[in-house]
Amino acid sequence: MIRIQPPGSSGTIDAADMAAKPAEGTFDRGHGRNRLFDNITETIGNTPCVKLNERMAPKGRTIYVKLEYFNPLGSVKDRLAVGIVEQAEKAGRLKPGDTVIEATSGNTGIGLAMLCAQRGYKCVLVMAEPFSVERRKLMRFLGARVILTPKSGKGTGMVEKARELAETHGWLLCHQFETTANAQIHYDSTGQEIINDFQGTRLDYFVTGYGTGGTYTGAGRALREKRPEVKLCLAEPADAPLIASGHKMDRNPDGSPQGSHPAFRPHPIQGWTPDFLAKVAEDGVKELGYDEYVPIPSGPAIEMAMMLCNTQGIFTGISGGASTWAAIEIAKKAPEGSVILAMIADTAERYLSTPLFSQVSPDMNEEEAAISKSTPSFQMPQTD
Ligand code: PMP
Repeated sequence: MIRIQPPGSSGTIDAADMAAKPAEGTFDRGHGRNRLFDNITETIGNTPCVKLNERMAPKGRTIYVKLEYFNPLGSVKDRLAVGIVEQAEKAGRLKPGDTVIEATSGNTGIGLAMLCAQRGYKCVLVMAEPFSVERRKLMRFLGARVILTPKSGKGTGMVEKARELAETHGWLLCHQFETTANAQIHYDSTGQEIINDFQGTRLDYFVTGYGTGGTYTGAGRALREKRPEVKLCLAEPADAPLIASGHKMDRNPDGSPQGSHPAFRPHPIQGWTPDFLAKVAEDGVKELGYDEYVPIPSGPAIEMAMMLCNTQGIFTGISGGASTWAAIEIAKKAPEGSVILAMIADTAERYLSTPLFSQVSPDMNEEEAAISKSTPSFQMPQTD
């Protein structure tokens, strides 16, 4: 077991010290995870909290981001997938060869497709057409069937279609927007991980947006219990202030929405705030309230995701940019010394076809062509 010292440091570390938390600034590589894994789903969770440097964090404030793209299929929703599938297995509602179905903006579907592939279930995912095409391809690559619904039906359309298909064919509907298993997995995993990682360390604010609201409700509940001083900060797109509007959703007996929320307008933050307020989110806000509320304008979410990449090497999608923007806004107003943690929900690779990558060309630009021409060998043929 070797712990590598950062440049400029000196001294050796003995065995007793190795069991302790690594000192800040040390690199803790080379000792593996001290266990072997039976299957890929066991690797879900235990994602790292990483500090932003001074190029993004306001002076005198510390911002950490919890990087959910370290999950095996690259998003926070791998947690939900394992939570829901294992709950159904324990309740005897799933046996090999059964079909699992869910409505998804993509990340839940990708997580569920992984679970189903590994456990031998069939998987049908219903997704509204505007979500990125790489999401569809990933789900199909994992062996799932992807049923598209028209843009005009929005999120409520895909939820209704999934319910109808589940009823008609007798498939297991996951109910991610309503099931208590959603917040529970975040209470048991996301929340406890934060509590453990920040043990003995100051933490003043926890920042996240919401899709189903599982992350906010589950992690928020765990923090209220064990770190009641942490302020819970909820962000939503400024274009879709469903929670801020205070308007109550009409619901079916199973908790699913009876139509679109009047405060919804389309926004670019995929995975956040569908056109209805999920029961999980509504119940979470009823239970926990929120200490700070941050409306997110569309532009900065994309700019922040690019900046995370360019200044931190943190490679996340639009919702990761949005929650980081919220964290920075909170940091600017927070007292000196404050420590903030924001959720980074997924990887930027899920956005290659979206506005996040619209400025990135597959061809060489002028600067790159000039670098190529600065030596004689293997130059690309002139195309213009
Ligand atoms: N960001 C992205 C990209 C997502 O896909 C989701 C989940 N739909 C979230 C954030 C929000 O997570 P939750 O559903 O737990 O509120």
